Amino acid sequence: MSAINVAEILISGARLSDNPVWQKLIHLGDKRGVKILAGDFRGTPLEGRIRGYYFDKDGVQAIIIDSSLSEEERQFSLAHELGHYVRDRASGYSLDSPKELIAQNEKEADYFASRLLQWIKKGPNLASIGQN
Ligand SMILES: [Zn+2]
Repeated sequence: MSAINVAEILISGARLSDNPVWQKLIHLGDKRGVKILAGDFRGTPLEGRIRGYYFDKDGVQAIIIDSSLSEEERQFSLAHELGHYVRDRASGYSLDSPKELIAQNEKEADYFASRLLQWIKKGPNLASIGQN
């Protein structure tokens, strides 16, 4: 079952928060044609299992983030999923991939996320994000 089926009400991720780091992450996705969506995972089979989900099927690329997470958790989760987009999208990587591959890819996506957030947080253009 995919997150798209499970999280019944999805909203545009951009509407979730005005936080400049969050908006910058959304902007990075938008520029590459990745739709960022948010939905409340509480009460669904996803609750407590995953925080975000990268979806690539039939020409649609989307990331769905659990809207019930804290601001900081959400940022990390979105940066992590962008990591999957950047690193793993061509490989057919999924939750059904072999365990060792999952462990490795999750570690790399976490590393990507910390680097990306570091870069965004010291970025000089943070204040102007969303104005273009
Ligand atoms: Zn992951």
